[in-house]
Amino acid sequence: MKETIYTIPINEAFEQRDGCPLCRLRRKLEHDSLDYILGAAMMEPDIRMETNQQGFCASHYQVMLGMNRKLSLALTLESRLAQLTEYLDADVRKASARGFGSAKAVRGALHESAESCYVCNRIAFFEDHYYRNIFHMWKTMPQFHLLFMQQPYFCLLHAAKLIDLAPGALGKKESPEFVRIVAEITKNYLSELGRDVSAFCKSFDYRSSGTVLRSAQKNAPERAVEFLSGYQDASLIDES
Ligand SMILES: [Zn+2]
Ligand SMILES: [Zn+2]
Repeated sequence: MKETIYTIPINEAFEQRDGCPLCRLRRKLEHDSLDYILGAAMMEPDIRMETNQQGFCASHYQVMLGMNRKLSLALTLESRLAQLTEYLDADVRKASARGFGSAKAVRGALHESAESCYVCNRIAFFEDHYYRNIFHMWKTMPQFHLLFMQQPYFCLLHAAKLIDLAPGALGKKESPEFVRIVAEITKNYLSELGRDVSAFCKSFDYRSSGTVLRSAQKNAPERAVEFLSGYQDASLIDES
């Protein structure tokens, strides 16, 4: 398979062999999306229309607040607030015609708009392509099998998603081996994490005084949270 717009970043993420490669792809998508929204997209009326309609979730607003691009953020907020005013005006007009008998009519667009996020939607869109390409690479590039098996782990969410999608993407013949490999990688990492978290806990026991923890054991709580939630401390996020 020729390298395409999607296979190149997949190969790059997997070649790092460090952490969950799908989280790495996700963080890159997240970083690029936020950078784009507060940068080049400011001059793209189509994108502004989408961000005005969809808005952002709490965590993405928080990241944007910390990005030191307050004017860009304020301009997107200005047009987003204007859009919401338009939605509310339209709904209030409709509800008013019915004597405000139905609260649903007023909360309709606001409710929908409050729960959407342009960045989360964009990530989901690209992730979908990444999953399809990972399975395509698995089917057509034997050398990708080795790279896949060399991953230290897939986080809980991404392991579950890979296993979930495998039968549909690979069919009855190829999916069992794929599922077995993802389950084995996950099981091995769970054992490793379990041992390291236990060593961390034991180090607080007075009977263990003097025991020096390895750095993987010292960071065991952070590593476990990263595996369980896909969350990574912002200070650890690389921008590759
Ligand atoms: Zn992950
Ligand atoms: Zn979001």
